[in-house]
Amino acid sequence: MNSKYENNKDVISFKGIGASEWRFNIQSNEFFCNDEVYNKEQITGICCYNNLLKNVHCDDVSRVEDFFKGIKYESINEASFDEIIFKFRNNYGELIKIFARSIINIENPNIREGYFFNISNVLEKSNNEGFLSKNREELIKGIFIVTNKYDGIVSFYGNNKDIIGLDNICINMNFNDCIKYIHKDYIKEISTLINNPTQSIYEGLEIKINDIYGKEKWISLKGRVKRNSDGSLIGFEGYIDDITNEKEANIKLKYISNYDELTGVHNRGYLKQIIEDYITKHKENESRGSLIIIDLDNFKFINDSYGHRCGDLFIEAVAYELEKISEDKELICRFGGDEFLIFIPNITSLVDVEKMANKIIHRFKDAFYIEENEIYSTVSIGTSIFPDDGVDFEELLKNADAAMYIAKSNGKNQYQFFNYNISHELNKIYTIQKGLRTALDKGEMFVVFQPKVELNNDKTGGFEALLRWKSEELGFVSPVEFIPIAETTRLIIPIGNFVLEEVCSKIKYLLKEGYDNFKIALNLSEVQLRDRTLVNTFKTVMEMYDISPKYIEIEITESMLMKSFDKNIEALLEIKALGVSIALDDFGTGYSSLNYLTKLPIDVLKIDRSFVVDMIDNHKSRCIVENIIQLSHKLGIKVVAEGVEVIEQVDYLKSIYCDIVQGYYYSKPQVFENVINMLPR
Ligand code: C2E
Ligand code: CA
Ligand code: CA
Repeated sequence: MNSKYENNKDVISFKGIGASEWRFNIQSNEFFCNDEVYNKEQITGICCYNNLLKNVHCDDVSRVEDFFKGIKYESINEASFDEIIFKFRNNYGELIKIFARSIINIENPNIREGYFFNISNVLEKSNNEGFLSKNREELIKGIFIVTNKYDGIVSFYGNNKDIIGLDNICINMNFNDCIKYIHKDYIKEISTLINNPTQSIYEGLEIKINDIYGKEKWISLKGRVKRNSDGSLIGFEGYIDDITNEKEANIKLKYISNYDELTGVHNRGYLKQIIEDYITKHKENESRGSLIIIDLDNFKFINDSYGHRCGDLFIEAVAYELEKISEDKELICRFGGDEFLIFIPNITSLVDVEKMANKIIHRFKDAFYIEENEIYSTVSIGTSIFPDDGVDFEELLKNADAAMYIAKSNGKNQYQFFNYNISHELNKIYTIQKGLRTALDKGEMFVVFQPKVELNNDKTGGFEALLRWKSEELGFVSPVEFIPIAETTRLIIPIGNFVLEEVCSKIKYLLKEGYDNFKIALNLSEVQLRDRTLVNTFKTVMEMYDISPKYIEIEITESMLMKSFDKNIEALLEIKALGVSIALDDFGTGYSSLNYLTKLPIDVLKIDRSFVVDMIDNHKSRCIVENIIQLSHKLGIKVVAEGVEVIEQVDYLKSIYCDIVQGYYYSKPQVFENVINMLPR
């Protein structure tokens, strides 16, 4: 401590608590008082005995003199002390109230030493004497505590009422009784500290007590253990402050800073800390850990269609499910909006991570029930491995995120491990994103048409419009690659409008040329289906080209519907009401619930190419296709088989009464001019 009175190193001050220690030699009149901290709570203005007296209130001077010069006990030992309360004017001109205690130094009976304790209400800034006449307790914030081993008594002076609950400014308590108030977890802590001969000053030991009503309180204990020259204990003197409010606020703050408020799982900051600790600990050995990032595929949509409250409840439910899925050692955190992170320490192989990712994806196959709503969602997952994919949190996160992005652009509802090709792939995605922004303006996009052939008469009944992009920078880019990216950037809206216009203009052309018995199908993305302007756009464009909606068919996929069944069905019904027919695309790749067929407003069902490919060799596939066709016919739904490439497939499909086929066997998708002649007049 940087005392002004270097020769009195023992004199300590309790910083900021309004207490200081003094020492007085009655022979030499030397008086030292530690007031090194010149803040307002300190009892400043005392540097020598005369100066002290000069500032004592005139009413109290003679009592104060008696107090310093004498001591009221006849037999002098460590337990002898005297106390006084007096009024005093400090350096700031404030009249404060001091509680003082005096003890005779047994090694030198000419020396008195003790404490001053400012018991004025510090909030009371007034110089007005009037405040001193106020209730005693009101003037005191904390408790001054003195114990002495010889008498076994602990004395509490001050705000006993608010802290201990006993309504008395001074309480003397038997040491053993006192222990009863201390919370059991802290008794040992205190005794170890006190019995440690090397420690004497305590700067704020925080412990829990129970007041007389049994109410838990946090106190801070500052002070000094007094010891004999041989280190043996004499007693403890110090100050108690009620810190319950701060402590509780701190505990809450700690909670807030470690946990996510909404879900109660940990937050990013906490996970980061844990991962960084893990990395530091395991840098040298062979341990591996995995960071998994989980992103909901359609959260924005859930929020938009069911409202934010439901969105919040959904996020909560997801957190709950993730906790259920994970094991104790795994740490879950909410990363933000609809993203979660899981850290798996000490993985033994990638299978651990795969298992986890599969468990999560699997859980999302079932609906979540949130306030009467049946909500379907899927997740995209990216993972990175320490130390292979990164040696700090940020790097692991960046790479897991990149992997997740790839999982999304590969069609969502899947997981992806990070690898260094992914950085490459990501670059490609960015280039595609950039290219897509200008593709329409530059005229790089066009539509090709693939005939759909009716099996009962071998005639072309229409076409499917398929989008093509020939980018200046990237050459031909497959729609499988760019459509998902156009969806995430919402560029699919203008692009989809472009396709619609192309289709309408071709219909117009065909009608003008005298064709009448055909439909042109176009693929609709989920983003378009969710777009509120969709129905109007359809109306406007059809009016613009002056064509009937009966020539248009839209193709949608099951997975688009599952995500928000009711809302999407509503949108579909509106389109259907216009007179447009609806085809369910890629049947068999998604949820493929035959049950749904009865609930969907569809006219056509398109069996996915994978079944058609399998059909010839695989008995099961054949059975499925047959059954789908039969059931569809019962429901009045026509069936299209996609990806028909060989005559055997055509023959077989004919034999099981499939209505329409589409595939390379008849024609690849081609520019309009090349397919017109396939249409019968
Ligand atoms: P899809 O709707 O299932 O389209 C059928 C895909 O199968 C087309 O690929 C087509 O060229 C291909 N295909 C047709 N017959 C055969 C065959 O016999 N064998 C093989 N191996 N493939 C065949 P494409 O044109 O590359 O389109 C891929 C996907 O991109 C489409 O799948 C569709 O989901 C999406 N897409 C294409 N155009 C659009 C569009 O204008 N809007 C939207 N939203 N999506 C589109
Ligand atoms: Ca299609
Ligand atoms: Ca398809």
